[in-house]
Order: sequence, then structure tokens, then C-alpha cells
Amino acid sequence: MSSSGLNLEKYRIPLAEIIRATDNFSSKTLIGDGGFGMVHKGQLSELWQNPTVAIKRLDRNGYQGNNEFLNELEMVSSFHHPNIIPFIGYCDDGNEMIIVYEYAVHGSLDRHLQDPYKRRLITWTQRLKICLGVAKGLKYLHSGVGEHKRVIHRDMKSANILLDDNLEAKICDFGLSRFGPRNQPVTQLVTKASGTRFYMDPIYNERGILRKESDIYSLGVVLFEMSSGTLAYQGRCFGDDAKPQYLVNLVRCYYDDDRLDDEVDDGLDKLIDPYIKDHIEMSSFNMFNEIAHQCINIKLKERPTMDRVIEGIEEALNIQERNPILTECVLKDKIFYQGKHVAGFTIYKWLHRWKSFEAETTSVFEQLIKIIDVAIKDCTSEYTIYLSSNVLTLLFLIQGCLKFNDSSLEGFGVSPSRVSFVKFASELEEAQQIEAKYPTLLFKKQLTTYIEKMYGIICYNMKVELRSLVTICIDQAPQTATQVQIFAWSDDEDSQPSDQTNNWEAIVDFLNTLLNTLKENFNTQMSIESFAIQYPCHCH
Ligand code: ATP
Repeated sequence: MSSSGLNLEKYRIPLAEIIRATDNFSSKTLIGDGGFGMVHKGQLSELWQNPTVAIKRLDRNGYQGNNEFLNELEMVSSFHHPNIIPFIGYCDDGNEMIIVYEYAVHGSLDRHLQDPYKRRLITWTQRLKICLGVAKGLKYLHSGVGEHKRVIHRDMKSANILLDDNLEAKICDFGLSRFGPRNQPVTQLVTKASGTRFYMDPIYNERGILRKESDIYSLGVVLFEMSSGTLAYQGRCFGDDAKPQYLVNLVRCYYDDDRLDDEVDDGLDKLIDPYIKDHIEMSSFNMFNEIAHQCINIKLKERPTMDRVIEGIEEALNIQERNPILTECVLKDKIFYQGKHVAGFTIYKWLHRWKSFEAETTSVFEQLIKIIDVAIKDCTSEYTIYLSSNVLTLLFLIQGCLKFNDSSLEGFGVSPSRVSFVKFASELEEAQQIEAKYPTLLFKKQLTTYIEKMYGIICYNMKVELRSLVTICIDQAPQTATQVQIFAWSDDEDSQPSDQTNNWEAIVDFLNTLLNTLKENFNTQMSIESFAIQYPCHCH
């Protein structure tokens, strides 16, 4: 049927079916209105397996026409990707030009950002997942449609991102999109610049040269809309400046304005949507904004590739999702399983799953160290002992599964031999040894420092507890030979224990309790001994 010679016959839907589904295009079924025309919601009959659909009806009096219709049809009938809205069919009976899509239950993203109630409901993690979906959908358009073909969307904006029942992003509206050749050093098309103000790449707008980097620019604007909760065309004030600015200008002020050298850090978090501020992990936000900022770079060459955008959002998502997991591991009630430290093992397994040990760069270790650091502040000796034994286990596991050339654990009575690791951690399936990368080596060093720090805390608390008892004992100790003799004679079986004996017993009891706590927390005999050897001045 189409002018491009496409055979789309199997997708044709009779007008009668559309009229039935939309109750003759009644206003009750209306769900959207755009440059193409009205969008209605309806349900197709059994012949089409009863899908709920969105029916886009070309407005004959609008500024889009036959070309946009055919263009969109040709595009969408060839797409297959989870982040592109599925195409169901079309109708070109009589005067009508209609395209039918799967209905996305949660509608378009701009409406979520616009409506404070809806916006409040999408968490930072969900926003990251939505952005990741959009980035993957765009990557597909840019490089996955065909071996020699690429599609440039040209109208990437939050109004053209739909959300399904799982809040999965679906890119829609391909009326302005263009096919271009792929696998050429530089793919560019010269067109009359089209798109939507506030989202459009200024370089494309100025020169009319369309490249995939223009979509990346528009995506950057959407990313900032998501983190700030502000639509690109809504004005917001910057600092004390009374004049409201549009989002991209606002972002540029925060990043580029020389006046703000000292305030940049503070300024950036003013850009966080207040609805997500309380549960956002700042390093996740910073990572995300950094990639978004690269996307809106004025220089095309400085903009990131889609792969890099995906990687950056994934990393921001990892940071956000990892934090509660790691925090729970460190702070949850003490758990041991068959004498093994569950927290240490669990953290190790997560790090393994996230492939942190193989990573050339990762913020996960820094994150974990921060959590440990907060956890050991003002905590009891008992908890510090528990945590130190878990950290030691973690260190031990890392030492066992990675290829290292040092033996820094020997100081803690842990042999780095592979044999003892396998015996200790036989339930861990990962048998392969991994080449240790710089972040892991640094992390290992930090853990060692933290164990020493924790032993230091335990010793300090011990000293505080013992100081008064020891002082009394010293004060009451016999000072002369005669006193020593009297002291020795009074030690017969029938006599009542003296205060002095009680104090000495209290010291022994205290030390026994400490030793038992160490044992109850499954500190190995060797690590207990090494603790005593390394801190002789405190222990004596
Ligand atoms: P534009 O003004 O951007 O050119 P358009 O006329 O091409 O818009 P769309 O953006 O495709 O139309 O749709 C307009 C609105 O209709 C969307 O923002 C969305 O709210 C709603 N809509 C479109 N398709 C769907 C769908 N598949 N499921 C749910 N809602 C949809």
C-alpha cells in the first residue's frame, strides 16, 4: 500500500472496527492531542485478540499530513524493541489516516512530571529505570534497526515517552523521525530543522545538519527533567535571581557560571526534585547528572555515545540500589550460619554478582566503606567485635578468590592459601580466581585499615572499662614487704574475700567476657591471638 512499496496489508484495520472501538471517535475515548491529531483509547475485537489500543487519527486540518503518516507507518512497522511502543496496525480507509498502537496504561512521562501527585509516586530508582529504557530504545533506533540503517528520532521529549503498566519506558511518535545510512564514518542528514523547542539541539537548529548526537542532546534534557522534576519549558528561579529560567539555562548556570565557583556543589542539589530528595543517594544523582550534562554539551564531539549513556545510568542505578542492600548487610541483627559470618559472606556475594572485583572503576567499595564508617561510630564493643569479624571474613574471602601477590592478611592470622579458602567457603560456587584490579586492591587495603581501627576501638573501650578497676587495685596493693606478708596470710580459706580480691576478679571477669564475645562472634583463635599481639600495650 505505502508509497515506499511496503507491504503492510496484514496490519490493515477496517475503519468500521476503529469506529466501533472508539465509539465513533467520541470525546469519552479521547486520551491525547498532538501535532498529528487526536489520540483515542479503544479495545479491538477478538479478531485482533482484544488488545487495548491507542488510536492516532491524523487531523486533516493540522500541520502534519500524508508524509508524516507514511513516514511513521514505515518506521514503526519495522521496529521490534521492548522500549519502542508496539505497532498494532493502521487504517487508511476513505479520508482517514490512522495508526494504532498498543495502549500504554500510564500514559506519557510529561504528564507524570507535570502532576505533583503522580510525580511524587515515581521514585528515583524508577526514574533511573525509565531513563535506562529510553536510552536503550534510542540505542536501538540508532544502531539496531537494520545493518545499514539508522533512525534518528528528531523529537525526543518526555511527551513522547510512554509508560506501560510496569512503568517500562516506550518511545513513541515517529512522525518526524528519519532513516539514515549507518556504518559510515559520520552519518548526517541535511533537513529543515524540526522538533520541539526546549528539547532541540541548538547546533541542529542552527545548521540543519541532523546527526544522532541531536537525539542525545534531547535525551540529556529529558534526563534533567527527571532528576529535577521540572519540565524543560517550565521556568524556575536560579539562586536569588528573581527572573525564572528554563531548565537547560538553569543547568548551565549551575555548571558553567563562573560567579558560582564556590557554590556549584550546593547549587547542584537545589536541582533535585524535592519529592525524591530524601531517598536519593547523592553519588547516584551526581553520576546521573554528569552524564546528562555531557549529553547537552554544545560541542557534538563532546557528547557521549549511547553506550556511554547507558553505562552511566546503569552505574547510577547500581549505586542507588546497592546502598540499601549493603546497609542492611552491615546493620542487620547478628546472624551466623554454621559458625560463619553471614554478613561478610553476603556482602562478598553481592560484590561478586555486581562484578565489582573485575571493575576498573567502581564506587561500590567507597560506598561500603562509608556505611562501615557510619556503623562503627558510637557503637558498642560487642557490635564492633561482630562487625570486625565480618569484615575480616570479607577480607579473607576476597583474598581467597582473587589473584594477589601479597600476603597482607597474615598479620591477622589468616593464611591466603587457596586450600584454606575453599575449605572455609565451600558453599560459594565461584571457584574461578579473578585478576585483582586497582579498586579491589585499594579496597582490600582500606578494609585492613578498618579492622585495625575497629580493634583500636575495642581496645579503647576495654581500657576505659578497666581503668577504674585497675586504679583501685593499684591503690590497694601492698606497698611494703610487711604488707605483702599480711596480705599473703590473710588469704586463708575461711576468710571473706577482700575488696581487693573482688576487684581483681572483676577484671578477670571482664576479660573473660570480652574473650567470650570474641569467640561467640567466631573470631578465629589465630585472629584473637593476633589481636592480643598487635595491641599488647592495651591488653596488658
Ligand atoms: P506531537 O505533538 O508530539 O507531534 P502527536 O500528535 O504525534 O504529538 P503523540 O505524541 O504520539 O501524538 O500522542 C499524543 C499524546 O497521546 C501522548 O502524549 C500521550 O499522552 C497519548 N498517547 C499517544 N500514544 C499513546 C499510547 N500508545 N498509549 C497511551 N497514550 C498514548
